[in-house]
Amino acid sequence: SFRALQVSKSDAGQSVNVVDFAESDLMDGDVTVRVEYSTINYKDGLAITGKLPVVRHWPMIPGIDFAGTVENSTHPKFKAGDKVILNGWGTGETHLGAYADRSRVKGDWLVRLPEGMTTAEAMAIGTAGYTAMLCLLALERHDITPDRGPVVVTGAAGGVGSIAISLLSKLNYHVVAVTGRTSEADYLTGLGAAEIIDRAELAGEPRPLGKELWAGAIDAAGSVTLANVISMMQRGGCVAACGNAGGMDLPTSVAPFILRGVALIGIDSAYAPLPLREMAWARLARDLDRAKLASLTSTIGFNDIVETATAITEGKVRGRVVVDMSR
Ligand code: NAP
Repeated sequence: SFRALQVSKSDAGQSVNVVDFAESDLMDGDVTVRVEYSTINYKDGLAITGKLPVVRHWPMIPGIDFAGTVENSTHPKFKAGDKVILNGWGTGETHLGAYADRSRVKGDWLVRLPEGMTTAEAMAIGTAGYTAMLCLLALERHDITPDRGPVVVTGAAGGVGSIAISLLSKLNYHVVAVTGRTSEADYLTGLGAAEIIDRAELAGEPRPLGKELWAGAIDAAGSVTLANVISMMQRGGCVAACGNAGGMDLPTSVAPFILRGVALIGIDSAYAPLPLREMAWARLARDLDRAKLASLTSTIGFNDIVETATAITEGKVRGRVVVDMSR
C-alpha cells in the first residue's frame, strides 16, 4: 500500500485526510507512475479548500500535475523506467490525482520528460509554467514580437506570472509586472521585469478605452484587472487570459475589440491537445533560464500540502512550490 491525500465530502462539509491506498484502488489507466514530484497550483488550493468546485468525483485524490517514473505500462509509447510529466485531463478533478505515491493514468495523457530536464525541474515549471508557455505561444501566433512593444503580466509574483516574466525577458520582451505585492519588486526585477505596476492601479472601474500602453498581455487575474488590461492595449494587441485569481467575472466592453482590434485569447491548459503540450514542453526546455527557475521555486514535503494549498488561495505564495514526494 502507499500514501495518498484524500478529500471527501459529507453533510458536514469537505475534509482532507492522509489515507492508505492500494494500486487496486486506483482508477483505470494503462500506465502506472511512481510520483516523484508534484506541485501546488492555484487550482489545487481551490480543490483542497473547496473554495470553487474543482473536484467532480468523490472521494478524490487532489493534485493536477506530477512528474515521475513509469512503473508499468501496457501503452505502446511507454515502458517501465520512462520519465513522464502529466498535467490536467481532469487529474485531481475527475480522475484520482497527483498527491499519492502512485498514480494510474491514460498513457495518451502523458508527455515524455524533455531531454536534459529533471523531474524536479519539470514540476518547478508544473501546470503554471506550462500555462505561461501556452500564453506565450498564443502571443507569438498573433505576431507579438518584442519590437511590437511592452508585454504586461498580471499576478506577477504568482506561479504563472513568475515563469511568464522569466520567459518573456529571456526572449528580449520589455516586461511590465503587475503585482499586489510591491514588496516583491526586487524579486520581480530579478526575474526580468523592466517595470512594476501596483495592482491597485488596475483596480478601478475600467474605462471603455484607456491609454494605449501594451502590445501583449498574460493575465492570471481575470475580473477588473483583466478588464483594465484590455482597455489599455495598443491597437492590434493581444491578451492571453488564463486565470481567475481576482475573480471569474469580466466587466469589459466591446470598445477595445472593435475600435482597436484587440484580440482576447483564452488559454485552457487542462485539455490542450498532445502536440501543443509537446511543443510547449520543448520550448520550456529551451527558453526557460534554469537558474531563474530555481530562484522562483521552493520545495515542501507531502505533509505540507494542505497548509500551502490554503496559503495559495490567499495570495500568500510566491513563485512556484514543488512537492517532493520522498519528503
Ligand atoms: P498563484 O501562484 O496563486 O498566482 C496568482 C497570483 O494572482 C497571485 O500570486 C497574485 O499575484 C495575483 N492575485 C491574487 N489575488 C488577486 C486579486 N484579487 N486580484 C488580482 N490578482 C490577484 O496561482 P497560479 O498557480 O500561478 O495560477 C494563476 C491563475 O491562473 C489562477 O487563477 C489559476 O487558476 C490560473 N491557471 C489557469 C490555467 C488554465 O489552464 N487556464 C492553468 C494554470 C493556472 P501578485 O501578488 O503578484 O498580485
